[in-house]
Amino acid sequence: MQVQKPYRVLLYYKYVQLDDYEEYAAEHLKFCKEIGLKGRIIVAPEGLNGTVSGTIEQTDAYMEFVRKDPRFADIWFKIDEADGHAFKKMFVRPKKELVTWRLEDDFSPTELTGKYLTPKEFYEMMQQDDVVIIDGRNDYEYELGHFRGAIKPDVRASREFPKWIRENLSQFKDKKVLTYCTGGIRCEKLTGILLKEGFKDVYQLHGGIVTYGKDPEVKGRLWDGKCYVFDERISVKINHTEEDVVIGRCYYCGKPEDRYVNCANPFCNKQHFCCPECEVKYKRSCSDECREHPRNRYVEEENAKLQAAGSQA
Ligand SMILES: [Zn+2]
Ligand SMILES: [Zn+2]
Repeated sequence: MQVQKPYRVLLYYKYVQLDDYEEYAAEHLKFCKEIGLKGRIIVAPEGLNGTVSGTIEQTDAYMEFVRKDPRFADIWFKIDEADGHAFKKMFVRPKKELVTWRLEDDFSPTELTGKYLTPKEFYEMMQQDDVVIIDGRNDYEYELGHFRGAIKPDVRASREFPKWIRENLSQFKDKKVLTYCTGGIRCEKLTGILLKEGFKDVYQLHGGIVTYGKDPEVKGRLWDGKCYVFDERISVKINHTEEDVVIGRCYYCGKPEDRYVNCANPFCNKQHFCCPECEVKYKRSCSDECREHPRNRYVEEENAKLQAAGSQA
């Protein structure tokens, strides 16, 4: 029998009009701090979006708090078990929009969005001939893992999507277009943007990749690699079958590796795949310049370890 882990990570969003979003954000932050929750929450005039971590008791209390507001009575929390917190601090930020699209003609996904597919429907439709699968995330998320055959978006942020779609996807306007993202929120507007651009048959994976990975029937099939997440876990496993593969490659030696690290030069911070051997050999630094930087974190960490060992001796 599997033992339940002591912590949880919650991923959730809901598009609903919040005229009092600034007050709602302040009230939210106060409650989260009181109960010791950690994470990142965005509150906007168009709704709520968050990822938070806490103990079972803390996350239960939080879900009850959110659902008590009739506007969020039906919000869907995607729950992952965890060994500890996935964040160091608690942020609740009032913002203009939940995802930074900065559209010239913004709209609400409650009025225009693609058709929802369950994991099983998505799995089946992916294997049809007349479909195009578009990853609704950024390029560096795709590189860690993606659905087999999906098109990699050449974007570093959501706001770059409209231009990329116009320049690269127009030949697919008459095909079935399937989109997916981590928890579903980005596809809510991405599918609406595709519809506005003239795509006719547009679908989105309901609940996102994380929900797909939990489906007991599909078991994450046709997902290659891991799923990038924006918290301290960095990635989560999706494919629970023997087909599970590593698709990342060590930046230095090219071996299969899906461990992401940040360059040790604090002014570079470039995120890259790095195997444990190369981390030592190249001091977790993406270039000679970064390796020799006077503030190199890897060098500082190693020196601290040496000093600690010296003081114990
Ligand atoms: Zn390596
Ligand atoms: Zn660097």
